[in-house]
Amino acid sequence: MPACYNPFFIKRHCVLIIIGIILICPVTLQATPEKPILAKQKKTIVIDPGHGGHDEGALGPEETVEKNVTLDLARMLATEFENTYRVILTRTDDYFLNIPSRTSTANHEKADLFISIHAGGSFLHQASGITLYFFKEIAEPALTPHTDPSKPFKRINNLSAWSNIQNPHQTTSKILAKSLLNRINEQTIFKKSEILGAPLMVLEGADMPAVCLEIGYITHPDEEKTLTDISVLSNIVQGIRNGIDDFFEKVR
Ligand SMILES: [Zn+2]
Repeated sequence: MPACYNPFFIKRHCVLIIIGIILICPVTLQATPEKPILAKQKKTIVIDPGHGGHDEGALGPEETVEKNVTLDLARMLATEFENTYRVILTRTDDYFLNIPSRTSTANHEKADLFISIHAGGSFLHQASGITLYFFKEIAEPALTPHTDPSKPFKRINNLSAWSNIQNPHQTTSKILAKSLLNRINEQTIFKKSEILGAPLMVLEGADMPAVCLEIGYITHPDEEKTLTDISVLSNIVQGIRNGIDDFFEKVR
């Protein structure tokens, strides 16, 4: 009888195989590479569509309402960013939101940057073009007090609990403003574009780089047409996207 048919031979080999498995298994388990505990975390961007609900913002000559333009743009940005960044909108539909709750959302979510969007035109005399605002205690000489309720000047004599929160981020907020403006200008032609410092309430309590983006002025007839053109809005979204990518490359 061949040795491999001998029951005693088979039994002895089975025992040896089992012992081998017991000895090898712990080694095999230990050799398996550990999975990373956390996937690479996405940067968080909070987008704030200006106005909402009974606060309609500015009204264009053709009755385009600012609160709708800002929400449309914010939704397009959220779609554009969804695969790359964690995106949160301060409002997702047409309802009122006060200014502190907008900034609080960014702080609560520990956002890496905060962008408030407006398209109003009441902030400057003869307003037109694109303006990016960063927080500055004293306004630039070009600015005057205005009536836009979502962008009131901070009352200098009224010490708020949020005073000085944004000040340490002023340099990075300016870098963010420049990155955005450079890239938006590559995509869309505005007659004028500039960066200004202003004591805006919506920015003063933000504990991260933060800007207010005045993306054209619907009170201006030409710009009202521009801001209701979906292809122009898509170009603006691409410019903002590129500007944010540049910003994170610079400050990481
Ligand atoms: Zn506005």
